[in-house]
Amino acid sequence: MCGVLGIFGNDYVAQDVYDALITLQHRGQDATGMITFDGKQFHTKKGLGLVKDVFHTRDMLRLKGHAGVGHTRYSTVGGGGAEDAQPFYTKVFFGVMMAHNGNLFNVYDLKKELWEKDHRFVNSSCDVEVILEVFTKALTKQRINKDLKFDHLCKATKSVFKRAQGAYSVVAYIAKHGMIAFRDPHGIRPLIMGKRKTGLLDEYIFASESVTLDVLGFEFVRDVKAGELIWIDEERKVHSKVLSNKKHTPCIFEHVYFARPDSMLDGISVHKARMRMGEKLADKIKKSGLKIDVVMPVPDSSRTAAIALAAKLKLPYREGLIKNRYIGRTFIMPGQEIRKKSIHYKLNAVKLEFEGKNVLLVDDSIVRGNTSKAIVQMCKKAGAKAIYFASYSPPVKYPCLYGVDIPTSQELIAYTHTHDEIQKFIEADALFYTDVKDIFDSCKKGNPKIKSFCMACFEGKYPTGDVTPEVLKKVAEERLSDKSCAKIEDDDINLGGQMSLA
Ligand code: SF4
Repeated sequence: MCGVLGIFGNDYVAQDVYDALITLQHRGQDATGMITFDGKQFHTKKGLGLVKDVFHTRDMLRLKGHAGVGHTRYSTVGGGGAEDAQPFYTKVFFGVMMAHNGNLFNVYDLKKELWEKDHRFVNSSCDVEVILEVFTKALTKQRINKDLKFDHLCKATKSVFKRAQGAYSVVAYIAKHGMIAFRDPHGIRPLIMGKRKTGLLDEYIFASESVTLDVLGFEFVRDVKAGELIWIDEERKVHSKVLSNKKHTPCIFEHVYFARPDSMLDGISVHKARMRMGEKLADKIKKSGLKIDVVMPVPDSSRTAAIALAAKLKLPYREGLIKNRYIGRTFIMPGQEIRKKSIHYKLNAVKLEFEGKNVLLVDDSIVRGNTSKAIVQMCKKAGAKAIYFASYSPPVKYPCLYGVDIPTSQELIAYTHTHDEIQKFIEADALFYTDVKDIFDSCKKGNPKIKSFCMACFEGKYPTGDVTPEVLKKVAEERLSDKSCAKIEDDDINLGGQMSLA
């Protein structure tokens, strides 16, 4: 999961791009980058780590220009080195800078094809470089002189749609020819368009989440549609066209976990969707007849759902688990003992809230189960009489091929174990999962116009229709062989809220 944005402003945009990147930090903390264009030159700064650590005053002074593209990265493909940090830039076709959020699961095939057929070398392991090559190749092929037309861009975008398999929300700027944004034919990853009137010309922004627009004072224009290309030309005239007629299937996990609750995605309030998820889970728990003394969230992302759940059950809500916000991310370390210790460093229990109580813990999901187990153990050690564990997402059983680092099915506890076995493994006294229908209804209620969502990690039905068992096998092999990539601990999905996965 990554954060992507582009700002087409009037003068110096680097400060706005920096501020926007801060609002998207929760979507990726591995690396970040920004490229600006000042009418004569592209200026680049990329690096590993957080936005606040990568950009320094000297960089900000150097990043001149009225157009900028930025990115916060969580690595799903490649070694995650600085060479893979986005945005990317190419000198061909006037010069194009580009960034995206998503994942191409045929990236290795495309790289090979670009090399063998088109004699184009892709240097990084980052899939946006592949998209950039496919896009600019399709533009170059049209033998355009100075007069770039919207039709040329449509043809190039269609070429990406044809060749790139997966999910991608792309923002790019073509030197002296304006900013473009497009979303894959199924619109799996979000992309929002905003506008601001500050000078002679309107300023435009494209960003992964609406929170960025709120913070920077842009008015919300609309979500980029599935399969749509938008071009803001140099006169700030907006051209747009939907280039595909595939079904819109936005990622439902954005609403469960990734997106900030203060964002609106595809017309759905993330906050409200999470509240409805909590309420629906409460209905299910109520039927169990269990005696519960207190409801507690596993911080941070589960707070909204846990508050709504507690209210529906008319039970007290308590913050009994305290997260160390400064611990950073946990990378896989050899041995279970070290892993357990690292979880302890991240979370600690307020003993007074547990002693002698039947506690209902609310979390966003269970992935491998190791962290859930460690949390249950910690709560019991703090004196809880019983720990009931409630996941407000359904069992996660299948990998994501669209930009979220969910492991292979064999690594997912819900795929390999029954409900009772999971409860036993995590040492909970009861276990509850939300039903698939309930999260679907929770999100759909926010925007009834959206008829379907990608729910492939729960159901194994991949909306792009091209994910065969062979593809899954190949992707699993590539994942296993990708030793260079420092994978984040699986259950950061549980501890995260704002520690995203891809
Ligand atoms: Fe989102 Fe899951 Fe679909 Fe991936 S598989 S895009 S995480 S819903």
